[in-house]
Amino acid sequence: MEFLQPVSLAEALAAKDATPEAVPIAGGTDVMVELNFARRRPEVLLDLNRVPELTGWTLQDGKLRVGAGVTYAELTGERSAAGAGSGSGAGGGGGASVGAESLGGRLPGLAMAARTVGSPQIRNRGTIGGNLGSASPAGDCHPSLLAAGAEIEVASAAGRRMIPIGEFFTGVKRSSLAPQELIVAVWISPPSGPEQFAKIGTRNAMVIAVAAFGLALHPGRRAIGTGIGSAAPTPVRAAEAETFLASALDEDGLWESRAELPSAVVTEFGALVRAAASPIDDVRGTAAYRLHALAVLARRTLTWAWAEYQRTGSDAPGGEG
Ligand SMILES: Cc1cc2nc3c(=O)[nH]c(=O)nc-3n(C[C@H](O)[C@H](O)[C@H](O)COP(=O)(O)OP(=O)(O)OC[C@H]3O[C@@H](n4cnc5c(N)ncnc54)[C@H](O)[C@@H]3O)c2cc1C
Repeated sequence: MEFLQPVSLAEALAAKDATPEAVPIAGGTDVMVELNFARRRPEVLLDLNRVPELTGWTLQDGKLRVGAGVTYAELTGERSAAGAGSGSGAGGGGGASVGAESLGGRLPGLAMAARTVGSPQIRNRGTIGGNLGSASPAGDCHPSLLAAGAEIEVASAAGRRMIPIGEFFTGVKRSSLAPQELIVAVWISPPSGPEQFAKIGTRNAMVIAVAAFGLALHPGRRAIGTGIGSAAPTPVRAAEAETFLASALDEDGLWESRAELPSAVVTEFGALVRAAASPIDDVRGTAAYRLHALAVLARRTLTWAWAEYQRTGSDAPGGEG
């Protein structure tokens, strides 16, 4: 097996151009499992760990640009990521708390999702780019990225393009990434309202989601974002649930009043999220259980997010456009 170790993005893209079959490896928490179980025998591995352009995060043109190599520990704030808010020059380092300036403080939905991933070892190695690269329907970043309306920056030797997250996943563990392309970064508008993520598994930690749900309230543009995990061939949005809830909030003047949500609205939102899923029976759970769980997760996350919106009532809606 050949092991390529580029030290810049240009070198990595040139290597991928020359050898499209080369398998990128970032944290290796998916790739190494596949190698160890002999599910994959790549002739070339492309190590991305020495590519500085994939690390850290910045605030650019009003959006957060999170490098593909940013780890879960950096997303949660367990480790500080080099970025606009951290002021440090290199990736890694220890002990940053989740404050307003940390990445976790700026992207709370993604941080919540990252906190549920694996164990500390997996969170220290596993990356957001690797989660997208695997494109598993159960990947925990995906519901929050869908809810936030993220865009994926990908590049090849021929240039760069942006893929809206809703167009990224094309099938079970398949994405719209071309063989010559690498995932470079994830772009997300800073949230203008509360975000939530909830996941159900067969135990509390080190577990693949049986069902997961991400929710974002976008008061800045009076919209709702959703993402469903582990309950369809790909991660999906619950578009009808989004439209229904945004209309209900508009019609009843709830964005402004921040009054209690009518229970009928919460119940209908859960039912519409459930209707957007198309799960299967598998070893982790039945389709019927997943559908039931999703409606519960949707109602719970909406209740939590709305309570936070009510608590932060003095803040004028702003942020993302
Ligand atoms: C014990 C254990 C527990 C886990 N728990 C969870 C969990 O709770 N939730 C969850 O979502 N996942 C979980 N995982 C899966 C895994 O940790 C995540 O999918 C992780 O995000 C993968 O990131 P990585 O950097 O390790 O990717 P790698 O293993 O390095 O790569 C994964 C895939 O992405 C491709 N890739 C990586 N980087 C790029 C790039 N920049 N451009 C293009 N392609 C790229 C690789 O070629 C490969 O196909 C777990 C894994 C293990 C072993």
